[in-house]
Amino acid sequence: MRIARFVIDSDPQYGLVEGDEIAAIAGDPFFQGVQPTGTRHPLDEVRLLAPIIPRSKVVCFGRTYADHAKELGNEVPAAPLMFLKPNTAVVGPGDPVTLPAFSEEVSYEAELAVVIGRICKDVPAEKASDVVFGYTIANDLTARDAQRTDGQWARAKGWDGSCPLGPWIETELDVDDVTISGRLDGEQVQSGSTAQLIWSVADLVAYASQAFTLLPGDVILTGTPAGVGLVREGQRFEAEIEGIGTLSNTFRR
Ligand code: MN
Repeated sequence: MRIARFVIDSDPQYGLVEGDEIAAIAGDPFFQGVQPTGTRHPLDEVRLLAPIIPRSKVVCFGRTYADHAKELGNEVPAAPLMFLKPNTAVVGPGDPVTLPAFSEEVSYEAELAVVIGRICKDVPAEKASDVVFGYTIANDLTARDAQRTDGQWARAKGWDGSCPLGPWIETELDVDDVTISGRLDGEQVQSGSTAQLIWSVADLVAYASQAFTLLPGDVILTGTPAGVGLVREGQRFEAEIEGIGTLSNTFRR
């Protein structure tokens, strides 16, 4: 299933994306299951929103792909490296991102995002799939200049708009080997596969759950493959993941 959140002429609601249509569903699928209301809309007549506003946090992993760690001159960490983004960082598919005034060096990072479906803590990797609701796409936008100068990455990684998510949550996806690509103004700049992750997606969910209680609707970003670079005002970045779709955002000052 592909679960999206959308507006057409009233309040945001959830829906099931089926081909070029969206079937509205009643209530909140994280807590009430998927119950279609019978109302359908052409997909191009609705505005998609971020498929989830994380209930409490976005847990992010850095340097989980060796080729990306190396391209920025970093060692591959001995254990997974985590940081957080606040839920106010999240914007939706198609939303314009306002580049922060404090940075001249904002970089794109196309990433597979895990959406948690159940409250959990200390999840063994072999049970990680039990707590996963589905997968979506993220752009871990990063102010590289602030990342270099600040001891903590809260500002560099957590500014408003720094976490585009979408276009929807795919609930059935085998994430062992899916391609992740990034295009800047139509030109391919990132290309990798989750098969290149140093730790598996299940290992990352397990690791995050050792530090944090994960809540339904929390999101985990699994890191970016090589090819990161800067985005400038007026440009468009598209992150595409095989089996999910494409997350596209433009940038402005
Ligand atoms: Mn990242």
